[in-house]
Amino acid sequence: MAGCQCHVRCYVSVPARTNLRCLQLDELKKQLSDRNEPSYRADQITDWLYRKRVQFFSEMTDLPHSLREWLNDSFNLDQLEVIRVLGSRDTTRKFLLRLNDGSLIESVLIPASPALYGQRSDRRTICISTQVGCAYGCKFCASGLEGFSRNLRADEIVNQIITIERESGEKIDNIVFMGMGEPLANFDNLIRAIRIINAPWGLGIGARHITVSTSGLAPQIKKLAGEQLQIRLAISLHGASDDVRSQIMPVNRRYNVAVLMEACRYYTARRKQRLTFEYILIAGVNDADQQARLLARLATELQAKVNLIPYNTVQGLPWSRPPIDRQEKFLSILRKHEVAATLRREKGHDIEAACGQLRLQTIREKAPTANAKC
Ligand code: SAH
Ligand code: SF4
Repeated sequence: MAGCQCHVRCYVSVPARTNLRCLQLDELKKQLSDRNEPSYRADQITDWLYRKRVQFFSEMTDLPHSLREWLNDSFNLDQLEVIRVLGSRDTTRKFLLRLNDGSLIESVLIPASPALYGQRSDRRTICISTQVGCAYGCKFCASGLEGFSRNLRADEIVNQIITIERESGEKIDNIVFMGMGEPLANFDNLIRAIRIINAPWGLGIGARHITVSTSGLAPQIKKLAGEQLQIRLAISLHGASDDVRSQIMPVNRRYNVAVLMEACRYYTARRKQRLTFEYILIAGVNDADQQARLLARLATELQAKVNLIPYNTVQGLPWSRPPIDRQEKFLSILRKHEVAATLRREKGHDIEAACGQLRLQTIREKAPTANAKC
């Protein structure tokens, strides 16, 4: 049974029914076989869930009435509610979504993303959230500004894709876990969701078109290396030495650059896969030539690709992106060291696309002084 996730609102304990989109196929089969249902019923049900994408059990018309009743009594099919959509000139769209406990999360649809993570460049990418808020408190990021509320369940992660495909009419074929929250701090729900997203009976999106981004949780990077999933991994580095990185990413005090690189070496050795280092360029903070040289050394050692991302300003935070010539000088140093590096022209800059910003703005409009956690 799924427990209530809201720690403040619910004074009465209500037995929650599990969302059916949390289950793996074998778990569904087991539940059905315990009821002496034939195993093909599980295939019928996943077809309704992930291909026809019904919202009510009553729509599963090829199931016996008694089975539909049991499903209705045992599970729910709760959806996400779209409460705000912002589109930008280059057609990046940002969706503010409400979960059934009232929490707000964000997902961003980026129509034709550049080939940043090795995939073809004509893919429709969705950037999805894994937590409500974030506990890691990176100094430049809107997601952590109001603290951490809770982990998303697997169905809430999967439903972001289903909801946005329905709302936009687009077929999404590339997923990046770069929305709100730290994916590896919600490890079990993340892996459960990725299996559903990847499975032929689920959303059927290839693992190579799924990228998880982490702020650098070294033990979880090693744990991820043990999962049988061919997903891609991006590391949010943003500083190539401890002094610079610790200044903007408190997580560096727990897992410093050396510890993080050791976990990255472990990952690449196990997975035989190139990592991507994400590096936001913030004026006067991490954009000096010396940082570029240190970054080149780390990337060369790991054979990692580097994505340079000009910082997206966040209302209320003092940081800004460096001028174009500084961005290009930084890139040229990496290239001189033969690092595979790209400089991203940030899509959606005009719709506050950096993670957590739309939610933050909405929460503050509603209750300027309230704590946004619940
Ligand atoms: N917590 C994970 C994934 C979510 S953040 C992580 O940190 O990797 C996804 C990416 O967005 C990270 O690389 C993060 O550093 C970056 N980001 C956060 N705020 C940003 C901003 N204002 N401008 C540009 N990138 C930002
Ligand atoms: Fe959290 Fe990632 Fe934002 Fe850091 S950058 S606060 S880890 S969401």
